Amino acid sequence: PGVQKLSPYVPGKPVEELAREFGLQAQDIVKLASNENPMGPSPAVKAAIAAALPELTRYPDGNGFALKQALAERLGVATDSITLGNGSNDILELVTRAFVGPEHEVIFSDHAFAVYPIVTQAVGAKAVSVPAKNWGHDLVAMAAAITESTRLIFIANPNNPTGTWIERAELEAFLAKVPERVIVVLDEAYTEYVETDDVPNGMDYLAQYPNLLVSRTFSKAYGLAAIRVGYGVSCAAIADALNRVRQPFNVNALALAAALAALQDEAYLIESRRLNRAGMQQLEDGCAAQGLSWIPSRGNFLAIDLGREAAPIFQALLREGVIVRPVANYGMPNHLRVTVGLPEENQRFLDALKRVMLRG
Ligand code: PMP
Repeated sequence: PGVQKLSPYVPGKPVEELAREFGLQAQDIVKLASNENPMGPSPAVKAAIAAALPELTRYPDGNGFALKQALAERLGVATDSITLGNGSNDILELVTRAFVGPEHEVIFSDHAFAVYPIVTQAVGAKAVSVPAKNWGHDLVAMAAAITESTRLIFIANPNNPTGTWIERAELEAFLAKVPERVIVVLDEAYTEYVETDDVPNGMDYLAQYPNLLVSRTFSKAYGLAAIRVGYGVSCAAIADALNRVRQPFNVNALALAAALAALQDEAYLIESRRLNRAGMQQLEDGCAAQGLSWIPSRGNFLAIDLGREAAPIFQALLREGVIVRPVANYGMPNHLRVTVGLPEENQRFLDALKRVMLRG
């Protein structure tokens, strides 16, 4: 019954599909729809993938030894606290499958990441979506929603599609309130883009909270969305449970090699942040100049309030060769989410938005 009720995840429109639909050239299309890194993969990552290519016959290292070792060193955690995933979505699913059954409730926020209700309903559990506060997570209300049946709580920091963030004191007060039988998943998919110290680092709370799992990904700031690799960090007991339910070889050999190289390429991450900072400013300035408001964001994307239904504007932008993301399915019918792109891509979006908004 849970499966029949759930709505499938809707990905950003692929460039090739739009090109076919409107007879456009793929190179003329700007895609700012899926919070990918506009820089493309780092040369070091491409070289690592090329070096891994000659050996595709044997199964990959099913335990991801080298990548876990590198992550453990980088994060200051033990290797047995790390779970690797086929994207961090895999981690979100593994933790749900390992711990949640049809008798349980799973809490998340309104306007939070679309995969939380999917993984919850897929195991037949009850999804409890808590009203947001200023578009962001209302952790006080989320803690108040805990019942005897609550098994898991998903929190995204920063959140997608809103870009909102949770500050340190709020998170600390929340974690202190959650009973230990409830697992808290702190989804930090965008954490590498955070440049202010008001946003807490989930890793700082793992020692104190054995019911905490922090998930991260190589899809965003590391620029590896296509290769599908993410990870979870938790106490060893949770990691052990995830390891029991995961598919053997859930992370492929090219992904292991790519992630390891990405982790070592600090310069790429620094440049990604710089580009994101400048692009965010460009988008905000452009929106302000058009009299539009937006939800302040700590991610690599911005939810812009069009002050009217966004669906027709989204369609009109497609005809201009600009793909962004409508977020009506997140309960945000007047917003469009745009990913920070290269300066020229941001400008293409802003110019096209101005044209289609004027046209009505
Ligand atoms: N969490 C959040 C908040 C996200 O926005 C995304 C990507 N859209 C993910 C997790 C999953 O990303 P991936 O599976 O590529 O790691």
